[in-house]
Amino acid sequence: MEAVVFDGKSLTLKYDNKFPMPKLVNDTDVIVKVEYSGVCGTDLHIIQGEFPASKERPLPLGHEFSGEVYEAGKASVFKKGQKVVVDPNRACNLCEFCRSSNYQYCLTAGINSTIGIFRNGGWAQFCLAPQDQVYALPDGITTEQAGLCEPYSCVAHGFDRASPLKVGQRILIAGAGIIGNLWITTLHHHGHRNVTVSEMNKARLDIVKKLDTGFRLVTPDVLASEKPQFDIIVDCTGVGKVMEINFSYLRHGGKYILFGCCPPTHQASVNPFIIYDKELTIIGVKINPFSFNNAIGWLQAMGSRYLDYSKLGVKTYALSEYQNALDDLKAGAISKAVFKIK
Ligand SMILES: [Zn+2]
Ligand SMILES: [Zn+2]
Repeated sequence: MEAVVFDGKSLTLKYDNKFPMPKLVNDTDVIVKVEYSGVCGTDLHIIQGEFPASKERPLPLGHEFSGEVYEAGKASVFKKGQKVVVDPNRACNLCEFCRSSNYQYCLTAGINSTIGIFRNGGWAQFCLAPQDQVYALPDGITTEQAGLCEPYSCVAHGFDRASPLKVGQRILIAGAGIIGNLWITTLHHHGHRNVTVSEMNKARLDIVKKLDTGFRLVTPDVLASEKPQFDIIVDCTGVGKVMEINFSYLRHGGKYILFGCCPPTHQASVNPFIIYDKELTIIGVKINPFSFNNAIGWLQAMGSRYLDYSKLGVKTYALSEYQNALDDLKAGAISKAVFKIK
């Protein structure tokens, strides 16, 4: 089968049209015929060696994918041909964290066993998943839309962590890559209108205009001159210094949602007196513990008003075009690349 394969030792990617097909291991496993498979910012970090991934053997990356069931184990609840989406992460079901629904903290499962990072992923025509990581798509959600389910599941977890988010509160979304765009659609869908989006890449701000939310779109220098005050800041930049700058834009009682994943080397300094004086809250958000049902609910409710690849700046590529996909993504001409797999 076709796959884009990552070698964690040499930090190289290659297109392989003879990668071995997955085989069912357990009776409850499912093999998914992948239709849409996203390229995530985390993948870029992995390829640059800035984020841990399997070094044991080369494997297809890809942890955000949808498709249909190609083969289901004899004890599986899934049937061939069913439209599905896969949660790349799972719980170990043994540790204290997983047993309290927090698999994002697990030291063995969670982000340490992710499909597409530590297990063969969805940048391939077929991918094996245990059935407890597979979710059936309700009618009305296309596999194209469901290609965004995994990043929305992370936003859904962030939304829960940040809640209550009260309509009318002043909100800043920093960074309008795909994650910023998904937050924009989420907040608009939930009734928020008092939202400012800050992004230094003007091409990305032009993409946001297509979502037609009426949110205020600015470059960071505008904020620097105005020194506005926000109740909530959602930082989707993944750049440590941004926190240092934006932190001064929090009002009394404000919450700083650190959504973007910064490389571990980044630093930001904050003033503890200001945290005390303004009673500020800093909230970290990590992956998507059991938030797929929530994300599927959102996909169903949001529909084509929001889940439109062209409005979101998402472009599709064949697996063999992986280098173009990565180059376009790094150049910022698109907000997200998704493999459309035949
Ligand atoms: Zn991701
Ligand atoms: Zn665990």
